[in-house]
Amino acid sequence: MAPPFIKIEGLSYRYEGEETGIHPVLNDLSMEIEEGSFVAVLGHNGSGKSTLAKLLNMILTPSSGKIFVDGKEITDEAMTDEDVLSLRKSMGMVFQNPDNQLVATIVEDDVAFGPENLGIPSEEIRARVNEVLSDVGMLEYATHEPHRLSGGQKQRIAIAGVLAMLPKCIIFDESTAMLDPIGRKEVMDAILRLNREKGITVIMITHYMEEAALADRILVLHDGNVLLDGTPSEVFEQEALLKSCGLNVPQCTALVHQLRERGLSLEGACVSIEQCADLLVKILKKEQ
Ligand code: ADP
Repeated sequence: MAPPFIKIEGLSYRYEGEETGIHPVLNDLSMEIEEGSFVAVLGHNGSGKSTLAKLLNMILTPSSGKIFVDGKEITDEAMTDEDVLSLRKSMGMVFQNPDNQLVATIVEDDVAFGPENLGIPSEEIRARVNEVLSDVGMLEYATHEPHRLSGGQKQRIAIAGVLAMLPKCIIFDESTAMLDPIGRKEVMDAILRLNREKGITVIMITHYMEEAALADRILVLHDGNVLLDGTPSEVFEQEALLKSCGLNVPQCTALVHQLRERGLSLEGACVSIEQCADLLVKILKKEQ
């Protein structure tokens, strides 16, 4: 089996401030993430999701434990500036607010900003910009002004800017939280395409259970560690446990659980509207 793209061993992190004191957030966390997988990270506010993302991107340094990315120990004190730059290129990050991530007044200049700073030849930059804008379905907006775009379009430009650095993995830290339902769908469609068609490893922190249901795997963080780790069907089966940590399940899953509680015999997992419809059709057909 191929080695994992990310391997975390005994990772702990605590914030320490003169005014805030010591605040442990992650506690002896270990896990692996396969290359090309799509992992959703859930957890109530303050459970350490963003802290984990920042540790993976070397914005923070662990209090203890090791992190390996693509076979290299990024927590090694001997990491050079070049190593850090290379890690940041291979692990892109997309944040919540698209307005904070756009730097130029024309879309294509914005997307070119990262590679330009790396001194990549302009011919190659032009080709990359066109390719990544097309990957996120925004090529026709290349010469538009970002501030006139919708939230979902802006966020797709931010994703294109990250893609232009040719990352192997992208961490989305609540990247759909500020978008309307249409924008959320546009961004989710783009994320799924990048994962399925380009093989980019996706780590997606989200509060939307319907989005997490689209991942291959869900990790639930609680009390500084991984509480649940499994496929969306496995994790959302644990509705009571999730509720006890302030989390929910997709509405269609909750509906199927309620129907079962009322005695309806619905077999099989249900984490999407389509699965829910299939289960109900099966029952209704039996009764006809
Ligand atoms: P999440 O992303 O799951 O909401 P975070 O990783 O942002 O959680 O935060 C985890 C905990 O660490 C929270 O209780 C938060 O208040 C605390 N925290 C985050 N950043 C800092 C900081 N810079 N200094 C002190 N505590 C912090």
